[in-house]
Amino acid sequence: MERTTDNRFVWLNGHVVPLQDARLHVLTPTAQFGANVFEGIRCYWSAVDSQLYAFRLEDHYARLLTSMKGMRMEGSWTVEELRQALVDVVKANGYREDIAVRQTVYLDGFGSWSDTGPLGMWVAPIPKKRMDSTDLQGLSAGISSWIRISERNLSPKIKLGANYMNSRMALLDARERGFDTALFLNEQGSVSEGVGANLCMVRGQQLITPPNTASVLEGITRNTLLQLATELGIAEVHMRDIQPAELQEADEVFLCGSAVELTPLLSIDGRRVGSGKTGPVTQSLHTAYLQVVSGEMPAYRSWLTPIY
Ligand code: PMP
Repeated sequence: MERTTDNRFVWLNGHVVPLQDARLHVLTPTAQFGANVFEGIRCYWSAVDSQLYAFRLEDHYARLLTSMKGMRMEGSWTVEELRQALVDVVKANGYREDIAVRQTVYLDGFGSWSDTGPLGMWVAPIPKKRMDSTDLQGLSAGISSWIRISERNLSPKIKLGANYMNSRMALLDARERGFDTALFLNEQGSVSEGVGANLCMVRGQQLITPPNTASVLEGITRNTLLQLATELGIAEVHMRDIQPAELQEADEVFLCGSAVELTPLLSIDGRRVGSGKTGPVTQSLHTAYLQVVSGEMPAYRSWLTPIY
């Protein structure tokens, strides 16, 4: 059955309920101040195995628990409880297709932004198709005049709802300037990340990405791609600061994240990147990534959690 907003199910605080009934109070600190931490998790359908695989759940939950700790959110769920909530709600929806799941821990109650509890959680899956590896759609990006938040103000390592207001400013500005998306520099003037995705650059056989100290979220996709690039011999991996001018000299630049998978950037600030088309390293990595997430590479099966 096709699910719409009218017949989707969401997990809210221990119950699977119709989306329309999953309600929070207007005075919750999450509604008032964006006091929530979350994960965006992908599950990929394998027609061969007739199975839906959640990708790197343990790593998402490790990061979610770290985000909670960072925000001094008290009270917790075990990893097993977090996993079970996701499995239950995906099953309740009966999805047998690629999906994206938002799992959010929020500050509940009637309180202030400084409260540490009570906490609530919701888990909401929606259908989201993988990108077609043979026809990767590239984007134009503009380097933002907004600087990425740093460890000195709001930690970019925490996946906090409120952090995305920094991304919002950059993205809306970029669109006003005619670009599809935005790139952030950090306080040091080096390249940081995109809006909701990490950045990688290819020069020759080198795959280069900014280090964890460059005001980035430590992305699970980025981590996956660095490992695949090395282990499959696709490229030599380097984590180092990238100066904005280097992006103009790159052969390939792409964004990576659970939502965007690998998305090539074909121009930056109006200047063409490399050939202006999806490059061979981006292409090989995307193909390998999709094989891994859909269970076609046995060596990486331990990253997958079967839903059914
Ligand atoms: N940076 C930011 C700010 C993000 O929101 C995301 C998406 N979660 C990423 C990077 C990529 O992280 P991941 O690969 O774990 O989805």
